[in-house]
Amino acid sequence: MGRFYKDYADFLAERFEGKMQKLTVNAGFSCPNRDGTIGRGGCVYCNNSSFSPNLAGGADISSNKMSVSQQLEAGKHFFERKYPQMRYLAYFQSYTNTHGDIGRLMELYCEALSVDKVVGLIIGTRPDCVDDRLLGELAAIGKPVIMEYGAESSHDDTLKAVNRCHTWAQTADAVERTVAAGLPVGLHFIMGLPGETREMMMQTVERAASLPIDTIKLHQLQVIKDTVLAREMDVSDDGRMMFRGLPLHIFSVEEYVGLCVDIVMAMCRMNGNIAIERFTSQAPADLLIAPRWGLKNYEFTNLLNRELELRNKKS
Ligand code: SF4
Repeated sequence: MGRFYKDYADFLAERFEGKMQKLTVNAGFSCPNRDGTIGRGGCVYCNNSSFSPNLAGGADISSNKMSVSQQLEAGKHFFERKYPQMRYLAYFQSYTNTHGDIGRLMELYCEALSVDKVVGLIIGTRPDCVDDRLLGELAAIGKPVIMEYGAESSHDDTLKAVNRCHTWAQTADAVERTVAAGLPVGLHFIMGLPGETREMMMQTVERAASLPIDTIKLHQLQVIKDTVLAREMDVSDDGRMMFRGLPLHIFSVEEYVGLCVDIVMAMCRMNGNIAIERFTSQAPADLLIAPRWGLKNYEFTNLLNRELELRNKKS
């Protein structure tokens, strides 16, 4: 177990033997919040190219027309020489990876699982875009499948303000149905969405911890180029950052470390069995407007662990 909380490595070690690596694939899905199925315009902070994969080797395998299996082979190639025993999880990350005809979806998932050493799937999607039939088919696939839902906040006013076009009740419902289907489930949240106070963020974490989830993933709000947020944010007369009349708080590293310490404590108190997968995200430098911390994920985790150590000594 990680020093202060259960981390993602702990979560994987409980389920898989040996070294595991996620390989991100872009299966060419679209987003129901952009194509009019659920909404138009997308979430105000979203520029999907900011979370398309860029493999550790620097080759962006998703931006071309490679098939799912070709992408996975390319990803494996990067790790295989150094870690010949490594096994892989295909991570369907970009856009909404359950938005499509169920037959076509299953074909793509099975294509991923047919790749040698790919032993499971992680499917990222919206909580309002997963039906029981699909969950049943995924549960019957015969290999581990982990569902990951973008919840982003537990506050419906916030979800509305950022044009998520779903509610917290839909997130809770998707979690319950996923657990009922027998699949592990994780939630993703953004800290610092327009209008949210620190108390609201902590409330979201506590609401998440009260659900039967296995993992949680957080990151700070990032203002990214070519998004509604970037275009419409402005500065109020008293010098505060605003978005459509709501305060927009851009975290400093120190502030965000402090928030994450409180989040870890709350999670451990409420349900120490939920793995915390990550705390930050770093959009590509050429797309990121703010905050420009220049920290890698592990560097942030080191800062956090140091602060947790201090807090632990004091208590
Ligand atoms: S964040 Fe997800 S749901 Fe929102 S617009 Fe982007 S792809 Fe669509």
